[in-house]
Amino acid sequence: VEELLKHKAAIYRPNTYGAGQGITYDPETLKVIWEQLALQSGVRLLYHALVVDVIREGDTIQGVVIASKAGLFRLTAQVVIDASGDADVAARMDVPFESSRDVPIQSLTTTFKLINVDVEKAKNVKKAELHAKMQQAAEWGYDLPRKEGSVHLTPLPGVMATNMTRVRDVDPLDIQQLTQAEIEGRRQAMEYSRFLIERIPGYEKAALGGLSVQIGVRESRRIFGEYRLSRDDVLSARKFSDAIAQCGAPIEEHHAGQDTRWEYLPEGETYHIPYRCLLPQKAEGLLVAGRCLSADHDAHASVRSMGQCMAMGQAAGAAAVIALQHNTHPRAVAIPELQSTLRRLGAILD
Ligand SMILES: Cc1cc2nc3c(=O)[nH]c(=O)nc-3n(C[C@H](O)[C@H](O)[C@H](O)COP(=O)(O)OP(=O)(O)OC[C@H]3O[C@@H](n4cnc5c(N)ncnc54)[C@H](O)[C@@H]3O)c2cc1C
Repeated sequence: VEELLKHKAAIYRPNTYGAGQGITYDPETLKVIWEQLALQSGVRLLYHALVVDVIREGDTIQGVVIASKAGLFRLTAQVVIDASGDADVAARMDVPFESSRDVPIQSLTTTFKLINVDVEKAKNVKKAELHAKMQQAAEWGYDLPRKEGSVHLTPLPGVMATNMTRVRDVDPLDIQQLTQAEIEGRRQAMEYSRFLIERIPGYEKAALGGLSVQIGVRESRRIFGEYRLSRDDVLSARKFSDAIAQCGAPIEEHHAGQDTRWEYLPEGETYHIPYRCLLPQKAEGLLVAGRCLSADHDAHASVRSMGQCMAMGQAAGAAAVIALQHNTHPRAVAIPELQSTLRRLGAILD
């Protein structure tokens, strides 16, 4: 965030639904900042490579197999962190998980940006007014599956970013369904932008300025870890002795209907994310971080937000280093050592 602000590529805003502070950023600048931060820290980056298999000795992971234009390669490692969102590595290790194949999951969204917006005029449009027009849109000849989409200011002049489209009942682990979802998401983005340009004040001279790199998947596989974060943990703001991060975000479920389900924690409260949610059952040497953590559907709908995914990544990275230093597995990492390392790195645990 500090780097983004230096580049004038982020703005603070009240969170749309009252759930604390929001930060809107320019993702193009963030790509470059992340690369620089990673390179300065001595990280070796490798793009254009997809993990397609694991190298294992029994239940212990020893590395991954990547597919690239130059063929297949083996990357060996003492600790592997699966931050694939879809738990691709964990699934190859045959760890227990729940997925879109077992239970209903959240809908997918293609986000898009509008350029040349009269931002002063557009930001005066109240959410209720936008939603009322979305409800009416079918009568005017628009096909808008979701009637509660949101549109956000960005740090870029004349640019607004949206979260509007809804592609429902898709299994993101099935590439044929995912392909159809990409096509449908882009079609909807065109339709929602036509609606905004033709019907909403401030967008009269706007144009569709960019689609998300790919359709956004909110949920696919969730592993079963040493602990499974539950809906009750979230809504009762439960605390854990092995906390590696906190979360105050509400349950935000983009189900298959026309609206979105929101359920809040008690005012001002947060719950803890336990380290055990990053530790898959039946696999050694493996950590997961991000939206594939061990959580039930409702808890996941709260904990999957970006800040928490980054905090999980930081915790998994710190745990991996400690495991290497002690020549042991992530499961054996001492919690006090992990927590003091995280506090030293600036993590907010309490
Ligand atoms: C439309 C949409 C809007 C959202 N809006 C917000 C919001 O406003 N605020 C908020 O906080 N959260 C929001 N979220 C939620 C949040 O963005 C995600 O839950 C979070 O970014 C997930 O992070 P992640 O790192 O776990 O997974 P991802 O961001 O999905 O990252 C996984 C990465 O792994 C790579 N990968 C996947 N498989 C492989 C493989 N086999 N080999 C190699 N690489 C692989 C992918 O390319 C990707 O780069 C939104 C989500 C969506 C879909």
